[in-house]
Amino acid sequence: MIIDAHMHVGHENLISEDMVSFLKGKGLWKEMHHRLSPEGVTEALDEAGIERGIIFPLTFSPPHGSWQALNDMTAAYVRTYPDRLIGFAVVNPREVAQSVAELERAVGELGLRGIKLHPSMQEFYPNDEAFFPVYEFAQARGIPVLCHTGASAPSHPDKYSHPLLLDEVAVKFPELRLILAHAGRPMYAEAALLLRKHPHVYADLCANVGRRDGEALLAYVLLALKVYAGATSRLLFGSDYPIFWPADFLAQVRAAVHGDWARRLGLQAISDDELEMILGGNISSILSTFDENRGT
Ligand SMILES: [Zn+2]
Repeated sequence: MIIDAHMHVGHENLISEDMVSFLKGKGLWKEMHHRLSPEGVTEALDEAGIERGIIFPLTFSPPHGSWQALNDMTAAYVRTYPDRLIGFAVVNPREVAQSVAELERAVGELGLRGIKLHPSMQEFYPNDEAFFPVYEFAQARGIPVLCHTGASAPSHPDKYSHPLLLDEVAVKFPELRLILAHAGRPMYAEAALLLRKHPHVYADLCANVGRRDGEALLAYVLLALKVYAGATSRLLFGSDYPIFWPADFLAQVRAAVHGDWARRLGLQAISDDELEMILGGNISSILSTFDENRGT
């Protein structure tokens, strides 16, 4: 089964104004309106031949309503397509106690199955001890934390998203399933350091297409994480939909593994079995850790 482990959704009232104007400025808003809907997401999965997608909001500070409303939105998408969509919850790093209470609700009542953090957009250091109760909750429940790492939009400070900040988190929470979104893009060496050192740190591949020769970049990322960290069982396919298209990115990942770039970089070392795990098996085993903890 192929699973897209990184997809964004949103509703007009729940997307921050800067993101709406960014999308409008690019002439994408009209299309995004549909693309960010439950139907848009499942159509994109269908187009790519992907069975399931993990979804979470595009932004974290809704102009109307509370941040908790974002989790209600994600849960409503999952209720619309329960066989296709898996929801991850958001938290507010400025309201840590409320975040833990909200996670109880999001996981217990809404059926969400992971946490998405974006330190650059949310402007917090993910290794801040004040935020540790969120990791404690996630570790105790077997809930994966998907954390943006590396470069983000020009309006967000990336000092918060350096992958090495998460080294301390992995040291203090060794059983936490911690996923480095974008594999640290372009700080792949730091991501490889974390994956080699910590057996429960993972990386997703999305948005590593580069301004040119995207497949070469992907091949390089795969090579670094496989050869240095031996981590093919902890690499996850994800598209960063709707910024990137699942069908296109899936083709690029396959080309990076099988194509000319792969041969030039010695990537024949990634087997078809390993590719299958990257495309869905690895995230399935993370989610089954959660299911086992929950006793289902
Ligand atoms: Zn993303």
